[in-house]
Amino acid sequence: MTATIRALTLVADRKLELVAAPAPPAPSAGEVQIAIKAVALNHIDLWGFRGMAFAKRKLPLVIGAEAAGEIVAVGSGVTAFKTGDPVVMYGALTCGACRACREGRDNLCENVAGLMGFHVDGFARDRLNLAARLVIPVPPGVDLRDAACAPIAFSTVEHMLFDNARLQPGETVLVQAGGSGIGTTAIKMAKAIGCTVITTVGDDEKVEKAKALGADHAINYRKDRFETITRKLTNKKGVDVVFEHVGGEGFNGSLLCLKRGGRLVTCGSTAGPSVNLNLMQLFQQQYRIIGSFGASMRNIRDSLAKMAQGLVPVIDTEVPLADLERGLARLESRQVFGKIVVRF
Ligand SMILES: [Zn+2]
Repeated sequence: MTATIRALTLVADRKLELVAAPAPPAPSAGEVQIAIKAVALNHIDLWGFRGMAFAKRKLPLVIGAEAAGEIVAVGSGVTAFKTGDPVVMYGALTCGACRACREGRDNLCENVAGLMGFHVDGFARDRLNLAARLVIPVPPGVDLRDAACAPIAFSTVEHMLFDNARLQPGETVLVQAGGSGIGTTAIKMAKAIGCTVITTVGDDEKVEKAKALGADHAINYRKDRFETITRKLTNKKGVDVVFEHVGGEGFNGSLLCLKRGGRLVTCGSTAGPSVNLNLMQLFQQQYRIIGSFGASMRNIRDSLAKMAQGLVPVIDTEVPLADLERGLARLESRQVFGKIVVRF
C-alpha cells in the first residue's frame, strides 16, 4: 500500500475536494520536504476559486498560496535546514538565475514558472517537496499560525510601504480597507514606525477595532465620504501616502486624499480593475502612482523578524482543513477583520 496525503484540490470552478494523493518521494538533491501546519487565505485564492479565464492553469489544482510548516526531510547538499526546523515558503517558482533573481528582486523574475496554489499546485496538502532556496527559516518564538501570514500578507505590505512608497516615520498614511488582512497589517506596520494612520472600514464595529489596533482615525466609508474627512483631518493638505488595494470607484477618492507630491501604492482592485484618471490632476499635483505585486524573499525575512519582535498578524478566524471553503466564503463576504488561517 502506498502512503497517501490529504490535498485540498480545486476540481472545478467553485468546487473544492479533500482528496487522497500519493505522498511525495524522498526529497531530491537541493530540496527539502515540508509538513504543512498552517495555510493563510488571500484574495488570490478567491480569484482561483471563482475561476479566471485568463489564468494559465489546469485543474485539478491543489490550492494554498501562503503557508508555514516544518522540515521533515532534507535532500543531499542541503545544509541550511535540518529536520524539525519551522519554515515558510516563497510561493512563486522563480528561476534563481536571472538578473532580477540575482539582485534579490524575486517578484520581478523573468522566468517565473508560476504561482503556487494559482497556476501550479499549492500548499494546502500535508507534505510537499520544494527547492531549499525557496524556503525561509522562521525565527524562534513565532507561532506557525502567524508565520503563515508572512509570505504574502506581511511581505506584500512590507514591499508596498517601505520599498515602493518609501514611507517615513512621522508621515501620514491613508490605509484603504483597514479591516482586511493586508489593511490590518499596514495599520500595524505604519504605527510601528511612528506614522499617523487614517483608515477606511465598512462598519462601525470595525471602526472601533481599527482604533484598537492603533489607527488614529477610522472612517466608515458607507456613512461618510472618506476623501472629505481625510482632507479635513489633514487641514486640507492631504496625506503623504495612500495604501490602496480596492480600486474601482474609490480610486479617484484616494487620489484626492493625497497631498502635492504624494505617493499612492496599490496591489489590488477588488472593487473593479478599471478607473478614469485625470491626467492634469496627476501631473499638476505631481502624484506618484506605484503598482506593487508580491514581494522579495528579503521582505519575507523582514516580516518574520517583525513578528519575532511582537508585530503579529491580526487573526480573524482559524478553520480546520476540511472547512477551508467556509473560510473562503467568509473572505468573499468581506466580514473579515484580519487574516483567515487554515490549520492542519
Ligand atoms: Zn529569475
